[in-house]
Amino acid sequence: MNEENILVELTEKLKSTQHLDKDEWISLFDGRKKDQGNRDIDDYIGMTAREISVEHFGHDVYTRGLIEFTSFCRNDCYYCGLRSSNKNAERYRLTKDQILECCRQGYDLGFRTFVLQGGEDPGPFGNMTGDEWITDTVRSIRSGWPDCAVTLSVGERSRDIYQKFFDAGAERFLLRHETADPAHYRSLHPASLSLENRLRCLRDLKDIGYQTGTGFMVGSPGQNSECLAEDMLFIEELQPEMIGIGPFVPHHDTPFARESAGTAEDTLFCLSALRLMMPDALIPATTALGTILPDGRERGILAGANVIMPNLSPVSVRKKYELYDNKICTGEEAAECRGCLERRMMSIGYSIVVSRGDHPRAGRRY
Ligand code: SAH
Ligand code: SF4
Repeated sequence: MNEENILVELTEKLKSTQHLDKDEWISLFDGRKKDQGNRDIDDYIGMTAREISVEHFGHDVYTRGLIEFTSFCRNDCYYCGLRSSNKNAERYRLTKDQILECCRQGYDLGFRTFVLQGGEDPGPFGNMTGDEWITDTVRSIRSGWPDCAVTLSVGERSRDIYQKFFDAGAERFLLRHETADPAHYRSLHPASLSLENRLRCLRDLKDIGYQTGTGFMVGSPGQNSECLAEDMLFIEELQPEMIGIGPFVPHHDTPFARESAGTAEDTLFCLSALRLMMPDALIPATTALGTILPDGRERGILAGANVIMPNLSPVSVRKKYELYDNKICTGEEAAECRGCLERRMMSIGYSIVVSRGDHPRAGRRY
C-alpha cells in the first residue's frame, strides 16, 4: 500500500473507532511528515473533522471572553514570556472592579462565558492572597451574571484550593498538560515543575466536577511524533471536555527565543485528529493560530474547531500579557474584536451564538 493510502486508512479507523494505538499514531504523524509536498491527507482529515464538528454543533461557534487578569508568575516555563526570570516582562494585576467592568461590557456584547487567565500569581491582591482573591472574584462574577459560566486558567494548585474555586462557582478549568512525554516535559520546564503534578492537577479537576480542558503546543522544541502520540493517548484517557492546542510561538526574552515556531499546517492537522478522536469536545481555534496565519482562526473552525476566545482584557494591559511574540488583537477594544470575529465567522458560513456553550454531556450545577 502506498503512503497516502495508509494515512487515509488510519484516518478512517480513527473516525470510526475514536482510537488509534500508539504505533498507529506514530505512523500517522511520521507518514504525513514523509509525504511533505503532498497535502491531500491534510485536506482529507480536515474535511472529515469539519463534517463531524458540523454534525455535533452545526455552524454555531461558541465564544469565551478572555480576561488576562495578572501577568505575574512564580513559574519559569522555558517557552513563556511571563516566566519569572524574564526581567523585561511588564507585570500588572487587574482590580476586581476592572474585571467586573470587562464582564459588564462582555455581557452586553453577547458573551456568556468569562475566562479568567493569568500567571501563577500568589498575590497579594490588596489584603488578600491570590487564591482568596480569585475565590472572591469568581463569587462576584457569578452573582452579578448568574447566567454566565466562569472558567479559570490559573495553573497548578492543591486539590483543596481547586475545590474552593469550584464551590465559589467556577465550573470550568483550562490547564494544558503541555506534553505527556516525561523527558520532553523536563526539557520545557525547570525541575520545580513536574509532569506528575500537572497530571495530578488534571485528575483532581475532573474528579471535582469541573469541565476540564487540557492541550499542548504544536511544534514546541523537541516535540516528535512519539510525543504527539503520547499526547493523543493521554487525552483519550483523560476525556477532557475541552482541548486547546496552538502552535508554539517563540518569545524573544526566553531560552527558546531562537527556536522555530510550530506551523499552521501541523496545528490544523492535530486539531482535526483531535476532533476525530473526541467528536463532541469543545475545541478552540486559538489566538496563537491566528497569530501565525492571518486567517488561522477561520481555518481552525474549518478544520473542526467550534470555539473562539476573543480578548476582553482592557486594551491598556493587552501588550503586557505577552506569552509569545506578535500576539494579535492587542490594540482593539472588546466591541471591535467581537465585530471582527463575527464577520470572520460569517465569511466562512458560521455564526457566533449567544450561549454559555457547555459541553454537550456536562451536568449543570446552576
Ligand atoms: N499560567 C497558566 C495560564 C497562562 S499560560 C498556565 O500555564 O496554565 C496559557 C498557555 O499559554 C499555556 O498553557 C501554554 O500552552 C501557552 N503558551 C505559553 N507560552 C507560549 C508560547 N511561547 N507559544 C505558544 N503558546 C504558549
Ligand atoms: Fe507562568 Fe503559565 Fe507562563 Fe508557565 S506558561 S510561565 S505557568 S504563565
